[in-house]
Amino acid sequence: MIFRQLFEPGSSTYTYLLACPDTRRAVLVDPVLDSVDRDLATVQELGLTLAYTLETHVHADHVTSAARLRSLVGSKIACPEMDGIPSADIGVSEIKPLTVGTVTLKPLFTPGHTDAHHSYLVNSPDAVRVMTGDALLIDGCGRTDFQGGCAETLYHSIHDKIFTLPDDVLVYPGHDYHHCHVSTVGQERERNSRLGGGKSVEEFVAIMAALKLPYPKKMDVAVPANLRCGEAE
Ligand code: FE
Repeated sequence: MIFRQLFEPGSSTYTYLLACPDTRRAVLVDPVLDSVDRDLATVQELGLTLAYTLETHVHADHVTSAARLRSLVGSKIACPEMDGIPSADIGVSEIKPLTVGTVTLKPLFTPGHTDAHHSYLVNSPDAVRVMTGDALLIDGCGRTDFQGGCAETLYHSIHDKIFTLPDDVLVYPGHDYHHCHVSTVGQERERNSRLGGGKSVEEFVAIMAALKLPYPKKMDVAVPANLRCGEAE
């Protein structure tokens, strides 16, 4: 499998490019509008055809390039089905995976950051990877105080869907603010300071309640735009 981790510095977002080496068909997970030219150049440099974009959730901190890419190269827009986004082409769910040539992205329903958030598990001959979006970050997690978020729900998502995976599964998060790139399920289960090391659900809920995070700067623009797959009004 062809795999690239791409970084958008304005919102510290990781976008992932995955492609089938046989068909050269590719998918971009969580692409950012500000980086659309760089992402498309990467697709072209690798001799790939962008078949799909795929979102982990409706983002509050950046606008997706899904609609722009669809209009530029004809990629189809895939989103969690339960987000009910009218202009999406494909809805994914735990029983509706996304397949690109020999690559299958298996959705794992991981609500708590948003109510419809999904992570994507990808099994390839070199490694098993899980793209955890904003559910599980490296030594952290997404916030749980808006968009239907719920700390208790997020705790159970991570413990039931991610921490039950084998230790050596690679964890690729949707953001990182500390120059970290990749972790493993084993490391996060053991050392994640919010969710790991045997923390109880009560401890986690208290940690999240004490964060007192500011209102996201771009939320009032980004959420409505992302409900249109990033299309201008
Ligand atoms: Fe988010």
